[in-house]
Amino acid sequence: MNRRAFISRLATLAFGAVASADNDLYKGIGGPFVGSGFTFSSKGKESYKLQDLMPTDTPSSFGKKLNIHFCFDSGAGGFYRRNLVQIKERMNVFYAKHGLSVEFFEDEKLFKGFDNFGDFGVEILKDEKSFKERKYKLTGKRATLEEHAGASSPKQRVVIVRGDVFETVSFRQTPIKGIMAAACLNVHEIFHTAGLFHPDLFIYSPIEENVDGLRNVMLSFGADKYPIVTSDSAIGADVTPRQINQFFEYLTGRESKNYKALKECGFDLSLLVQRIADVNKLERRKLK
Ligand SMILES: [Zn+2]
Repeated sequence: MNRRAFISRLATLAFGAVASADNDLYKGIGGPFVGSGFTFSSKGKESYKLQDLMPTDTPSSFGKKLNIHFCFDSGAGGFYRRNLVQIKERMNVFYAKHGLSVEFFEDEKLFKGFDNFGDFGVEILKDEKSFKERKYKLTGKRATLEEHAGASSPKQRVVIVRGDVFETVSFRQTPIKGIMAAACLNVHEIFHTAGLFHPDLFIYSPIEENVDGLRNVMLSFGADKYPIVTSDSAIGADVTPRQINQFFEYLTGRESKNYKALKECGFDLSLLVQRIADVNKLERRKLK
């Protein structure tokens, strides 16, 4: 087996396992967008048009470097911590593919938030209780039932991850599965802080759910809902050019349309999605 085929096989194994019925890691990948609750949407002044939020051309000036800061809450993340080097490496490969360089940092204290548009914080929390408390402290909102593994707080550019969901026998026996899942979850939640949404929220989605044979990294449903594809991807998922342009547009800074829309929504991702749905006449899919 050549190297490409080998990596491909590994990825298939990894996501096949993630998708298995007894592994519910991905139940919570949805963050604030998951759930059947529809948010009331008054009209905003900023543009919520998809062509503004997701430009077809790459914005001319944006920060091409990301600074991703990790912080482990006390007692959190055995598996996660042991495999952090590889989790970072896979994130690095993913971002490099899309023209972004990354520098990683590790901090001692939970984050207050970041001013720089290229800076993002990833907090690994110990368990469900600390996850829920932290979510409430960051966003003022309760964690939803579906927020099982990760959530995003766009105001501070901080994402939170439950370390304990990686403590499974399956991941201990075959760490690559957990490493890919962790890297994928981090990328997914970081994209949320820039306003990226779940393609499968809408009945006729403007965003492809599969990208060159890989699942779209922003899909909200568990991987079990989708065919597991053979992949030599670093994180077993990818984004479309329009989605990456949306992230780049956000990285242009305070005048970014994505940022201004998020700000006008009080950094509430559910409200943002509702306004996007209204303005673009997209029909919301009822999530179970
Ligand atoms: Zn999500």
